[in-house]
Order: sequence, then C-alpha cells, then structure tokens
Amino acid sequence: NKILEVKNLKKYFNTPKGTLHAVDGVTFAIEKGKTLGVVGESGCGKSTTGRVILRLLEATDGEIYFEGKNVRELDKKEMIKLREEMQIIFQDPFASLNPRMTVSEIIGEPLLIHKKCTNKVDLQKKVKDLMDTVGLSQRLINAYPHELDGGRRQRIGIARALALNPKFIVCDEPVSALDVSIQAQVLNLMKDLQEELGLTYMFITHDLSVVKHFSDEIAVMYLGELVEKASAKDLFKNP
Ligand code: ADP
Ligand code: ADP
Repeated sequence: NKILEVKNLKKYFNTPKGTLHAVDGVTFAIEKGKTLGVVGESGCGKSTTGRVILRLLEATDGEIYFEGKNVRELDKKEMIKLREEMQIIFQDPFASLNPRMTVSEIIGEPLLIHKKCTNKVDLQKKVKDLMDTVGLSQRLINAYPHELDGGRRQRIGIARALALNPKFIVCDEPVSALDVSIQAQVLNLMKDLQEELGLTYMFITHDLSVVKHFSDEIAVMYLGELVEKASAKDLFKNP
C-alpha cells in the first residue's frame, strides 16, 4: 500500500555556471505508515527532492503520486487539500518565521490559514492539545521561540506540522542542529507520533546513525541520483 510514488523525478537549477542537476531522475515509493530514510552527503539533492514532492519547488520533470493523485497536475482546490495532508519539519523551524510570533501564534497559524478554527477559544484549545501531543508544557504558550532550547523549539515545529492532521511528513534534518542527548528525545517523540497517528515519513539526514533504528528503508543519494536502496536491516547486516 504505497502512499507516495515518485518516478524519474528531476529538478534542475539555472545558475551562473550553467544548469545544475540537483535531482537527476530519482524513483522510489514509500509504504503507508513507514519511514524512508534519505541519506547522502551535503548537496546531493535530498532537500530539493523533499521540496519538489511538496511542491514548494516545481519539478523540472518526472511524476509524483500521493495516494494515487498526480501531484503535479492538481488544481488549486486540490492543492490546498494536499497542503494539509503533506507537511515539512525543518532543521531550524524558525529560520523563515517572524521572531515576534509566540508559541501559540506559531502553532495556530496553519489552523487560521486553513480556516480550521471558528473562534479564539477553539483555537486556544487546539493549540494546547497540540502542545500536549508533543510534550510541551502549556506554561510556554506565550513564550517566544528564542527563549526556548533547541529541543523545545523543534517540538514547536512538530506541533505546527501536526496542526492540520497530515498523513505524510518530510522531515528535513529535524535533529541535526540538536545536542545528541536531545536528538534521542526528539526521535523518540517522532517515532511515538508515527505509531499513534499512522504517519508516513520521508526522513532526510546526512547522518546515517540517526535513521538506522528509525527507517524501514533507506535510500542513498549521490550527486542528484539515488544510488542505493535497501531495507535498514540489509544495509546494516553483518557480512
Ligand atoms: P542536500 O539537501 O542533499 O544537502 P540540496 O537539495 O539542498 O542538497 O541541494 C542540492 C544541490 O542543489 C546543491 O548543489 C545546492 O547548492 C543546489 N541548490 C539547491 N537549491 C538551489 C536553488 N534554489 N538554486 C540553485 N541551486 C540550488
Ligand atoms: P537546507 O539544508 O535546509 O536545504 P540550504 O541552506 O541548503 O538549507 O537552503 C536554504 C534555501 O536556499 C533553500 O530554499 C534552497 O533551495 C536555497 N538554496 C540552496 N542552495 C542554493 C544555491 N546554490 N543557490 C540559490 N539558492 C540555494
């Protein structure tokens, strides 16, 4: 039961030095409720692949099917629905957010944009429920992200990503900026949420050890291509 299928996906960038083949014919699928780890050195095209799947970037060529729907051919209304079903968690969830937004505003924003709350009371309740879900104390509801440590900031990023009840999440280096001890806590949270909510993950990292115990399958990228794909078990088997 494949939730996502990607066929011969390409993303080229025009740069002053010529055409850069950031993603150059990548094919893979992810089973519903599973995790595909995508690994490879910096610059090999992992992030770009994730962003093209979510249509944060337009693909140059190739096909993307999400629950059988052809993602590159959706109309505006279908795209809004897709934006609810697919989310992304970034390494630094606040790089692109207004630093003057509080925790409550950050988590509540997708609910307002997608008109999922009719009034303030309802919004506050949903925000508090999401904070519970990710293990954030409600004392922090009016805090600013810069007042919190990295682990709590990433929990805000996860809560925001969960606000619209997505099915699929691109996790783009979600623990790479965190202390190793905090990495384990955030990874455990993500694993628990996956089981509880039936989420499917595409988990991007340059650090193989991060996805070793987490992924069902691992795809290795090199210079824009997918050069190896194996079950986590096979990739780490002893000779
Ligand atoms: P990774 O996530 O594996 O580190 P990226 O997908 O971020 O790799 O980048 C792949 C390649 O595409 C890199 O060479 C990067 O510099 C380039 N790239 C990414 N985004 C752009 C862009 N908007 N314009 C030009 N080049 C880009
Ligand atoms: P990440 O590792 O999260 O992808 P980056 O620093 O690689 O973060 O990219 C941040 C933003 O800059 C992304 O939107 C990416 O597409 C863009 N970008 C990355 N590399 C380049 C590049 N060589 N030229 C222009 N834009 C780029």
